[in-house]
Amino acid sequence: MGKVKIPEPPHLVADLKTLYLSTMATQWRQVAEDAKSKRLPHAEYLAELAHLEVTGRRERRIQRRIKDARFPMLKTLDAFDFDAQPGLDRDEVLELFGGEFIEKAANVVLVGGVGTGKTHIAIALGMACCQNDYRVRFTTAAELTNMLVEAKSRDRLSRKLEQLARFDVVILDELGYVPFDKQGADLLFGFITRVYERRSLIVTTNLPFAKWSEVFLDATAAAAVIDRIVHHATVLKTEGNSYRLRSATRKRRRRAAAKAS
Ligand code: ADP
Ligand code: MG
Repeated sequence: MGKVKIPEPPHLVADLKTLYLSTMATQWRQVAEDAKSKRLPHAEYLAELAHLEVTGRRERRIQRRIKDARFPMLKTLDAFDFDAQPGLDRDEVLELFGGEFIEKAANVVLVGGVGTGKTHIAIALGMACCQNDYRVRFTTAAELTNMLVEAKSRDRLSRKLEQLARFDVVILDELGYVPFDKQGADLLFGFITRVYERRSLIVTTNLPFAKWSEVFLDATAAAAVIDRIVHHATVLKTEGNSYRLRSATRKRRRRAAAKAS
């Protein structure tokens, strides 16, 4: 016996679209057929459909947050191998993923050598913030500084700073990889001062704090930046050799062992 298609009530889809209920507008018939075969009461049908709208909307909002964050790649904590970082306190990292630090406008600093997973954790944490509906923006320290220098040259610095301050979390990747000139250092310092105690920063750096004066050119500015960033911060230290190199070596060894056997 062929199923009879439930006829579309006049105006239904148009009305749902007028109300911006896009999931309901596309799903009403499928859910209605389901409800009919399960003999669900009308109220259950409505509840089911409304719930689909709510979850669909939430999912779209999260996807938009992730897109707006401009992550260079997507990383998750699930894919992070804690055994490779025995120095990291797993519970301390997991606590950050609860997102409470954002409500306190606290910061996170990841310090360690190249390839030790700093950017991986920063992105995974940023993505978790997006999942919790926070506004996140990923940038490198060099990119942010260039952005500020350019905005200043066009007389738009305060507007740019205002835009950036709308994000709940700004990820500043690779602080210390490229030294700034005096103007760049001053502008970055201005940004950090501006967001201090209002917004959260996630900073990754290969430089121990003692060497930050090399980036900020003068020791006083460096001390002021460290003071602001580290004042309310969780500092995570990653250690050891590059994970990429290590896993390549492990693969090579495994291949050699397989050949020998
Ligand atoms: P860093 O920013 O410290 O230079 P990355 O986070 O870019 O290092 O890590 C380099 C590569 O190695 C990335 O592909 C990252 O996903 C991977 N990686 C690093 N550490 C780990 C780890 N502990 N578990 C899984 N992948 C890791
Ligand atoms: Mg990195």
